[in-house]
Amino acid sequence: MSETIVIAEIVKGAVHPTTSELITAANALGSQPTVIVPCADASVADGAAQFSGSAKVIAAKSDVFSNYDAAGWAAALDAVAPAGVLITSASPQSKDLAARLAARRGISVVQDVVKIEGGNLTSPIYSGKAMQTVSLTGDAVVSVRPNVFDSSGSGGSGDVSVVDTTGNVATAVQEFMARASTRLDVAEANIIVSGGRGMGSPANFSHLEAIADTIGAAVGASRAAVDTWDEIPHSMQVGQTGKTVNPNLYIAVGISGAIQHLAGMRSSKYIVAINKDADAPIFQHADYGIVATWEEALPVLQSSLASMMS
Ligand SMILES: Cc1cc2nc3c(=O)[nH]c(=O)nc-3n(C[C@H](O)[C@H](O)[C@H](O)COP(=O)(O)OP(=O)(O)OC[C@H]3O[C@@H](n4cnc5c(N)ncnc54)[C@H](O)[C@@H]3O)c2cc1C
Repeated sequence: MSETIVIAEIVKGAVHPTTSELITAANALGSQPTVIVPCADASVADGAAQFSGSAKVIAAKSDVFSNYDAAGWAAALDAVAPAGVLITSASPQSKDLAARLAARRGISVVQDVVKIEGGNLTSPIYSGKAMQTVSLTGDAVVSVRPNVFDSSGSGGSGDVSVVDTTGNVATAVQEFMARASTRLDVAEANIIVSGGRGMGSPANFSHLEAIADTIGAAVGASRAAVDTWDEIPHSMQVGQTGKTVNPNLYIAVGISGAIQHLAGMRSSKYIVAINKDADAPIFQHADYGIVATWEEALPVLQSSLASMMS
């Protein structure tokens, strides 16, 4: 097996805890990986050095890593990462990066891996309708779904070596302006409360927000909700053409459970569905189902959760 390199997951300029899951995935491939941390300030890499299970941690330092830009990041990382199997997160940003890195190196990319056994990698295909297993026989870029592998734990040596890299970057993103929102992003949340067209109007999403605020969840939406109401932004959309999420708990309210929605959330650990139609397809995938209107169910849920949390 060739060398294994983990590209640390960077969110808002810091090493995200899911990086330790990538180390576990590398360990499942039978090796202690080198962890490369893309950063503008080398101290960011300290966040990765605390994780156990890696052979070494390299801070790949470049101004290009101040803001995400697929071409710039791939060029700078390609210059510093040795040949081997590169492992990234399967977040939207890192899947983009994985594809760029693979294209630069002329090697295969395997996205959304949820299981590693020996050299065999399993990932969902056809919007999650089937699983495919491929054998790793050479260098490749592999993106791993968050929240599937256990954390490698803490107890790393804390040692970091610093490498300056530019990779002859032709352009760099100077500033990134996120749309002003104080709400948690669905891609980062452990609990998601999502609403569909069954919510009736965008104003009714305030009931989902109240529940989300009570339990520290993000608010998501189906594409029908996003397409129907301008007030529900595309950034909230979960599904095949939205975000793929993998939270511990996904609460679907007024969502029918179309295959394209399931594609983005069916691997959630627990799924709760609230729908007035007992035959709605979402119930076939839910661990817990409530056949009721949201008008009936949400106030009860809200007050139970509020008393649990107080
Ligand atoms: C190429 C393609 C890509 C797509 N990508 C996505 C995607 O990324 N994400 C996505 O979500 N969809 C996607 N879709 C759309 C998808 O096919 C469905 O149309 C969409 O998911 C339906 O959204 P919905 O369940 O909110 O609405 P509906 O199908 O209209 O379902 C509304 C549900 O709410 C229930 N309901 C109504 N009133 C109440 C009430 N008062 N209380 C409780 N329940 C109630 C109804 O029983 C129904 O089950 C895609 C489609 C295509 C063709």
